[in-house]
Amino acid sequence: MKTFDYDLLVIGAGSGGVRAARKCAEFGAKVAVIEERALGGTCVNVGCIPKKLYVYASEYGAAWQDAKGFGWHGEQPQFNYQTVTDNKTKEISENSIDERLLTSPGVDIIEGHGTLAGPQTVVVGNRTLSAEKILLATGTWPAMPDIPGVDLAINSNELFDLPRFPERLLVVGGGYIATEFASTFAGLGATVVQSYRGDLFLRGFDHDIRGFLAEEMRKAGVDLRFNHDTHSLEAAESGVITAHLSDGRLDFDTVLCATGRRPNIAHLGLEHTAVKLNDSGYLCVNEQFQTDEPSIFALGDMTGGWELTPVAIAEAMVFAESQFNNTPQTMDYQSIATAVFSSPPIGTVGLTEEAAQAAGYQTTIYQSEFRPLKHTLSGRDERTLMKLVIDTPSDRVLGAHMVGDDAGEICQGLAIALKMGATKADFDRTVGIHPTAAEEFVTMRSPRD
Ligand code: FAD
Ligand code: NDP
Repeated sequence: MKTFDYDLLVIGAGSGGVRAARKCAEFGAKVAVIEERALGGTCVNVGCIPKKLYVYASEYGAAWQDAKGFGWHGEQPQFNYQTVTDNKTKEISENSIDERLLTSPGVDIIEGHGTLAGPQTVVVGNRTLSAEKILLATGTWPAMPDIPGVDLAINSNELFDLPRFPERLLVVGGGYIATEFASTFAGLGATVVQSYRGDLFLRGFDHDIRGFLAEEMRKAGVDLRFNHDTHSLEAAESGVITAHLSDGRLDFDTVLCATGRRPNIAHLGLEHTAVKLNDSGYLCVNEQFQTDEPSIFALGDMTGGWELTPVAIAEAMVFAESQFNNTPQTMDYQSIATAVFSSPPIGTVGLTEEAAQAAGYQTTIYQSEFRPLKHTLSGRDERTLMKLVIDTPSDRVLGAHMVGDDAGEICQGLAIALKMGATKADFDRTVGIHPTAAEEFVTMRSPRD
C-alpha cells in the first residue's frame, strides 16, 4: 500500500483552511497546513476583523454629535488616525489566530508557498510533501481595474495601514468593500467620493434596501456617483492623485479600488493536476468539495458563491465530517444571513423581492420606514427601513431585509426563524421587545400597496 507523509495537506490557513485542518486532526488524521503570509488569512488580517474595528472607530464622531441632544456638551473630541491603526495592528498581532489552536490537535504548520507538483504532492521551498488528500483553501486577492495610472491606487489590503489619514478619498466600486469603506472613512472625517459604474450600488441586494442606503449615505456626507466611471489616474504634485472621472477631474490623497477579487491560484501548480476552473475563474467542485482531480478538494472563497467567513468555516466542517469522520454531509446554502457594515448598516437574509418574483413566487411585501427613537432627541436625520418578503399562498417568510442600526445583529436572529420555515403568522404571534427597532419586524400588519 502506498504511504504518504500526511493524510491531509491543507494549502492556505485562512477561515476555511484553519477550521478544516483543526477538525480533521481532531478526527485523528495526520494533517499539515501550509501558509505563506499570516495564520487566519484574509478575515483576521485584512478583512472582517480590522474592518469592523475601523467601523467602530468611525461611529464615535457622529455619536458625539448625537449626545448633544441628550444634554452632553463640550468640545468636539479630536480623532487620531495613528492611534486606531496602531491599536488595530497590536490587537491582530497579539490576539488573532493562536498557533495552539492548530498545534494542540497535532497539526503541523509549514510556512511558505505551496505548489502542487501532482495529484498527491506539494512542494514548499525545498521540501516535497505527499498526502492522501489535499485541500486547497487559498482564498482570493483584490482585482484592479484596467485603467491608466491604476498603480497609483491601493487595494483594500493596503487601506488598513496607510501612512497618513486620507483626507480626500476616491473609492471605485459598488460592492461590499467599496460601500463599507466609503461609509467608514466618511465617518472618520474624510471627504469621500464613491464611484460606481452601474445605476445603483450593491447589485444583488434588495432594490429598496439599495436605494434607501444610498439616500442615507448621501445624508451622512458620502458623495455617491452612479453611472459613473473613473477613466484614469495621474500623479500630481506632492502625492496628490488627479482622477479623470466621467464628470470631470478631481484631486484625491488616496484612491481605493474595490472592484472585486479573484481566486489565489498564481503558482499553485494547478497545471500539474486535473483541477478545472469555471468560466469566472473559480475552482470547480462537487457537493463534497472535490475537484476534477479526485484527491484534491477546494473550499472557501476560491470556489466562488458566498464569499463570507462563516460560509468558508461551515464548508470546512462539512469537508472534515465527510472525509475524516465517516459522516458524509452536504452544505446547506439556504437562508444565509449577511451584513454590509455601512453607516447605517444593512442586514439581510433570504430572498430579495426581485429574486422571489424571478423564482416564480407570488409575494406579499411588508415594509416599514421610521425614525429610530434615539434620533428623536439626537436630531440626526437618519431613518430605518425594514422589509419582509412573504410567499402569499404558504405565508412563509422568504426574506427579511433591513437598513438601520444593529441590522446585522437583528438579522442573525431572523435567520434562525427563516431557517425553521417561519410564516408571517409566526412573526405576528411573536411578542415584541419594547422599545427596540427590532420589534417592528413582528408588528408589521398591513401589506405594502
Ligand atoms: P482566506 O481567508 O483568504 O485564506 C486564504 C489563505 O491562503 C491566505 O492566508 C493566503 O495567504 C493563503 N495562501 C494563498 N495561496 C497560498 C499558497 N499557494 N501557499 C500558501 N498559502 C497560500 N466576510 C464576512 O463574513 N464578514 C465580513 O465582515 C467580511 N469583511 C471583509 C472585509 C474585507 C476587506 C475583505 C477583503 C473580506 C471580507 N470578508 C468578510 C470575506 C472573508 O474575509 C472571506 O470570505 C474569508 O476570509 C474566506 O476564507 P478562505 O479560507 O476561503 O480564504
Ligand atoms: P464585489 O464583487 O462585492 O463588488 C465588486 C464591485 O466592483 C462591484 O460593484 C462591481 O460592479 C465593481 N467592479 C468590478 N469590476 C470593475 C471594473 N473593472 N471597473 C469598475 N468597477 C468594477 O467585491 P468586493 O471586492 O466588494 O468584495 C468581495 C467579496 O468579499 C464580497 O462579495 C463579499 O462576499 C466579501 N465581503 C464581505 C463583507 C461582509 O460580509 N460584510 C465585507 C467585505 C467583503 P458590478 O456590480 O457592476 O459588477
